[in-house]
Amino acid sequence: MVSKNLCPSHFGMLRNYIGLRFAQDDNDFCLSSRAMLPFKLIYSDEYYLPIGQHVFPAEKYRRIHRRLVETGVADPSDFVTPQPASDQDILLAHTPAYVNKLKTGTLSAREELQLEVPYSPELVHAFWLAAGGSILAAEYALKDGVAINIGGGFHHAFPDHGEGFCMIHDVAVAIRRMQKDGKIRTAMTVDCDVHQGNGTAAIFAGTRTSSDPLPSNGPSVLGRKPLIRGAHAGDVFTISLHQENNYPMYKPPSSIDVDLPDGITDDDYLAWLDNALSSGLRQFEPDLMCYVAGADPYREDQLGGLQLSLEGLKRRDELVFRVAKARDIPVMVTYAGGYALKVEDTVTIHSNTVIAAAEVFQPARNA
Ligand SMILES: [Zn+2]
Repeated sequence: MVSKNLCPSHFGMLRNYIGLRFAQDDNDFCLSSRAMLPFKLIYSDEYYLPIGQHVFPAEKYRRIHRRLVETGVADPSDFVTPQPASDQDILLAHTPAYVNKLKTGTLSAREELQLEVPYSPELVHAFWLAAGGSILAAEYALKDGVAINIGGGFHHAFPDHGEGFCMIHDVAVAIRRMQKDGKIRTAMTVDCDVHQGNGTAAIFAGTRTSSDPLPSNGPSVLGRKPLIRGAHAGDVFTISLHQENNYPMYKPPSSIDVDLPDGITDDDYLAWLDNALSSGLRQFEPDLMCYVAGADPYREDQLGGLQLSLEGLKRRDELVFRVAKARDIPVMVTYAGGYALKVEDTVTIHSNTVIAAAEVFQPARNA
């Protein structure tokens, strides 16, 4: 249910900007600057990747922040500013040799090429900051039930190298830090970026023990069922829902991989997500859910081949939040990729994730 009291002036703006559909009787809904969200948004004005002209819209974080404030979805007091992760935190998920190369600027030409973003000390700072943001998001999620890092989700980073625009795996760093602090024992990653979470699968592969049979009762798509693969996990259970015919070419096994065919649309995608979440939560009880809310399953994405609509992506977010809330599992969110032809669409998709969380986690009226 949408929270209440929408000012008429905000109503039109929100509908135009965010594509929300409100029922008539929700016209009193007010996302005024006085209404605080029931959770924190982690954000820094330094969330910017210094990578020049690039398909990755490095300025998207600032634009999402501006959109959320200008449309009254969030109040400035809803935002918490992170500090960069410490080197000790980064080393919880990455090898000393790799961290040393990043700190001393000694990546090989091949390693920098594989990263697909130009190395600079400023870029190192940006990734340390994103990891600090995800640590903070995990802490707030455990406190409030949900928290959103307006950044992070760099799921292609491996322990000993970076690739696919991802230098440091901020989500893995956050999980390992929460475990080290004794705040959680187990975690589940739910990766809905269009690209498979290869770094996540690799980092948490060490504790995998055996394959479990998985139900495959989701819908068939374009004449065939997506391939659903599974392997049981140890202390971190990894779910990845992604386009099969896309980067990365080699997909190391997650606990559950759903290899989707090209062109899948909203309803089929949501059925498979529901299936994967149900399967995962039948096998595993996480203390923390880490939702990687990539914007690139969008039908106008330049690096994706799925066909989700803006509304479908918001329903995706709502589904994850509803499942987490129903089972009382704290959920932290990171944003990962998003390469829509129009950057405004990417900003809309990521902003809608905050709105979806507000709708699901807002206390009921008069509660
Ligand atoms: Zn992606």
